[in-house]
Amino acid sequence: MKASQFFISTLKEAPADAEVVSHQLMMRAGMIKRLGAGIYNYMPMGLRVIRKVEAIIRDEMNRAGAVELLMPVVQPAELWMETGRFQAYGPELMRVKDRHDRDFIIQPTSEEVITDIARQELRSYKQLPRNFYHIQTKFRDERRPRFGVMRGREFTMKDAYSFDRDKAGALKSYQLMFDAYKRIFDRFGLQYRAVAADTGAIGGDASHEFQVIADTGEDAIAYCPTSDYAANVELAEAVSLIATRAAPTQALAKTPTPGKSTCEEVAALLGIALATTVKSLVLATDDKNEAGDIVKTTVWLLLVRGDHAMNEVKVGKLPGLKDAFRFATVTEIEEHFGCKPGYLGPIGLKKPVKVVADRTVAAMSDWVCGANEADFHITGVNWGRDLPEPDLVADIRNVVEGDPSPDGQGVLAIQRGIEVGHVFYLGTGKYSQPMKAQFLDENGKPQPFEMGCYGIGVTRILGAGIEQNHDARGIIWPASIAPFQVAVCPIGYDRSAEVQAAADALHAELLALGVDAILDDRGERPGAMFADWELIGVPQRVVLSDRGLKDGQVEVQGRREAEASKLPLAEVAAAVK
Ligand code: ATP
Ligand code: MG
Ligand code: MG
Ligand code: MG
Repeated sequence: MKASQFFISTLKEAPADAEVVSHQLMMRAGMIKRLGAGIYNYMPMGLRVIRKVEAIIRDEMNRAGAVELLMPVVQPAELWMETGRFQAYGPELMRVKDRHDRDFIIQPTSEEVITDIARQELRSYKQLPRNFYHIQTKFRDERRPRFGVMRGREFTMKDAYSFDRDKAGALKSYQLMFDAYKRIFDRFGLQYRAVAADTGAIGGDASHEFQVIADTGEDAIAYCPTSDYAANVELAEAVSLIATRAAPTQALAKTPTPGKSTCEEVAALLGIALATTVKSLVLATDDKNEAGDIVKTTVWLLLVRGDHAMNEVKVGKLPGLKDAFRFATVTEIEEHFGCKPGYLGPIGLKKPVKVVADRTVAAMSDWVCGANEADFHITGVNWGRDLPEPDLVADIRNVVEGDPSPDGQGVLAIQRGIEVGHVFYLGTGKYSQPMKAQFLDENGKPQPFEMGCYGIGVTRILGAGIEQNHDARGIIWPASIAPFQVAVCPIGYDRSAEVQAAADALHAELLALGVDAILDDRGERPGAMFADWELIGVPQRVVLSDRGLKDGQVEVQGRREAEASKLPLAEVAAAVK
């Protein structure tokens, strides 16, 4: 590639709205260009990185036995109604209508469509296991798009979906993806951690996030340096919350007073110790069997830190109640209860803990919510949404450095991370059962698919990679995902026939060796030329000048190296390869 035929557009200054270094550097290096809030053009330089990220992902997904297909960006709402997500997803889901007034969505993820494909195509156990993936544009109407491609509204994700005949098979598929993810992130050359994550409103047993370690990360990770324990802080907190719970079997033994009980009292009845910095409102929902008996009660804890509604909500299942421990995000609460955006609700307690009447909720000043049942709705209460978010780094947590590790193998350390991947065992409840996606087993009996889903934030990788790899001069791409591996920088390309001939020849030699090299034939002054390639973050630079060529020498400098080393021209290709 010749620079004159490519498109290079660098900036001295980053726009004022770029808060984090990766956003600033991507803008300055001309990798992205803003079109709207959380919506970016991927410019040629940035697209090259995206394509390299995608190629590594494809390679490892294929190696792990996943099959690529491509599902539409715009999807009919009917499918999303089958799982209830059309109503339940909340404001992040972009809903659109066509000219016939029919409902569609712009996909934030593709479980419904892939499950629809599976129920038509995978009819027999003999066709299982199967894992389909695609690399496709996603749209999520994020409440706060920010940090450039890190939290965009339109972004690219690789999402894969596994279909198995039973849970053991699904967990095997999960492990295959987990291992593939490790290879992928190793190949990206990023420092990351796979951490246990909550299974949220989806339920299930297994979920891991792949977190790139970075101080600017929006997530916090708790890990134990002396053992393998690593979890996102929400999960670690949940575990510690449960650990500090008093007399859990007392839960529900007494009945809270309708309309009078405070959240603290309800929590006490449920045997939950509330941390001083955290206020919780306890919610419960019942699952009933056909006879109307309560077979499962899930308890939801809505946590508020200081004055702020946290973005996370914990949902615990206490031993006194019948189900497994779990927690979810506010979004998932919204999904679960199907509320409108604008106020956070509906929130309420249902049987058997019927305590929340609007007086109670109203009495909790600063709580803004509705309830689970129409009569309990409280609107116009101003909560959470308009309050500033907790400080990114210094927010208050239940779990702090030095707390005992839940595995008993040492104490916890905490670091910040960027979620770049997520693997999730789904089971049958969320998609295959509601969508009646079934295969026939050996006995000819229909069985629901055991599913898993696995995402990687393709475009987010760029931001995360830069957060981890930069200096004062710009980006330092890991070689595997750099837009170019080598910049051939002739000094006086437009003036010296000898420099031009040597640079052309070296460029051709590198290309023939399969090295992704760019020849800077723009005739820029050395300072400006070097500054561009340092900002763009190309890992190797080769400088050719009349003076050096007189002795048959060129200068080679790695992006992390303080000084260039002189090499005979004939040895350069082998050295940078
Ligand atoms: P987050 O917690 O950051 O909002 P998520 O848990 O909602 O992410 P998933 O549904 O797990 O995201 O999607 C899989 C992957 O897609 C994430 O691990 C992340 O890398 C990426 N991703 C999610 N939301 C965005 C976004 N708004 N912009 C860019 N990438 C995203
Ligand atoms: Mg999200
Ligand atoms: Mg997440
Ligand atoms: Mg996730």
